[in-house]
Amino acid sequence: MRVVLAGIATETNSFSPIPSPLKNFGSGPGPLFGIDALNAFKDTRISFAGLYNIAKDWGAEIDVPVIGRCNTGAPVSDADYEVMAEKILESVSRGCDAILLGMHGALLTQSGSDDGWLLERLRMLAPDTPIGVSWDFHATMNPRKVNNATITRCYRTAPHTDTFENGQAVARLIRRVLDGEVSPVTVWGNIPAIGDSESPGMATASAVLAPVMAMAAEAERDPRVLACNVFGGCGVADTRESGPSCVVVTDNDPELAIKLRNRILSALWERREEFVCVHEPLSESVAKAKAIKAGGARGPVVLGDSCDSANCGGADDDMAVIREVMKQGLVDVAIAPIRDPEVAAAMHAAGNGATITVDLGHKVKPVDGFGAEPLHVTGTVSGLYDGQLVVTGPVFTGTRRDMGPCGCLTVGGVQFVVTTERAEPFDFGIFEKVGINPREKQYLILKGCFNFVPVYKEIAADIIFCGGNGANRTVLQAGEAGLYKNLRRPIFPLDQNVTFDLTEAS
Ligand SMILES: [Zn+2]
Repeated sequence: MRVVLAGIATETNSFSPIPSPLKNFGSGPGPLFGIDALNAFKDTRISFAGLYNIAKDWGAEIDVPVIGRCNTGAPVSDADYEVMAEKILESVSRGCDAILLGMHGALLTQSGSDDGWLLERLRMLAPDTPIGVSWDFHATMNPRKVNNATITRCYRTAPHTDTFENGQAVARLIRRVLDGEVSPVTVWGNIPAIGDSESPGMATASAVLAPVMAMAAEAERDPRVLACNVFGGCGVADTRESGPSCVVVTDNDPELAIKLRNRILSALWERREEFVCVHEPLSESVAKAKAIKAGGARGPVVLGDSCDSANCGGADDDMAVIREVMKQGLVDVAIAPIRDPEVAAAMHAAGNGATITVDLGHKVKPVDGFGAEPLHVTGTVSGLYDGQLVVTGPVFTGTRRDMGPCGCLTVGGVQFVVTTERAEPFDFGIFEKVGINPREKQYLILKGCFNFVPVYKEIAADIIFCGGNGANRTVLQAGEAGLYKNLRRPIFPLDQNVTFDLTEAS
């Protein structure tokens, strides 16, 4: 038996000013191929490792043509995407018995293409070969992706703590297909709505979404149901089908699949208002953080600047939140990261203990004129570090990250973690590597999305997501700025009086 196992993963933010070149699809030289890819990821907790964890016991030759993973940014060039996709197609063209893929599913190319392009070609090349795909909860589903995969399955959690388990589940289902035990049929549908990954209602454990997730889990207890998938979708990926959707895979029972899909879609439609993120004014969020500490709460108050999170397409260099924090006089603050290659280089040139005066942040110009000025500061350099770290938190555990040369710049009561590359705070490493103990701070500002919550909630007095100026626009902001060019219309919440008829769901 021969199995092809691969992955291409990035969540495109169509409004991000950060490009997504091929070299960013890895920690270093770009995507990894063959044995290098296998060795780099097989012991992590990403979905690829889960797929491998099951398939390695099949006694098969496993070929890993490519694994490419890139932080969220602007659409990928079609040529770069094809470099990775062609590796997979070439491996499959040599003949194989199963194809296992770990994809994000919100990737877009500059021409508007997506992973459906790859799946369609794989299906043409290997019409009878089972294809199992592990998708992110925030993937955009569409007919090309759904109809060309044998098994579609996505994470059940946001924050994503079951990526490995999802890979395992996909591989187990493909094994059952190979053994002739099941004959999968798939139906999908979406609702005429779009939401924000950062809205509290999009967390799978929230009071909003937990009942829907429970409904899907209950459906999967029926042996005829192979996978009942709830997708949140990605609000900043500007493509026709963006938004919440449902994909049900049954064992040759299309009627049951349609019934379950309709039930899930109805539940999602009822909750559409809860998927929309509206930030309170930034000054109120900061005042709230100050009041919590004034009340004597233990542990740092965490301000989440998801608007400028690398995981959401932010540049990691917007200064709006820290500016407000300094204006309101908060002290004993640590903020991570501020990506500023020029300042990081100046810090390394000056050395630990040196005092430097710099213009910090705002080196990347936003696509639509949002944003403010850099911060002119004089600070002391410490904690210089080469930027290598391995994620220990429960999200993307074991993956390598490269922040590039970095360090701590202390300006009065504020410590800035200044990096050369964008970085997502998945655990405490981003602070600890430059000598800051986050547990001891009064306030932490994280340029991160919900994925930091599982780790930081353990030490935080409270976590407040606030409205900054970064490239991660809310759906309403993007709609108001006229940024959507490809999204289907009418759609909630951008258009008035949108209705949903289940018979149009597929
Ligand atoms: Zn996601």
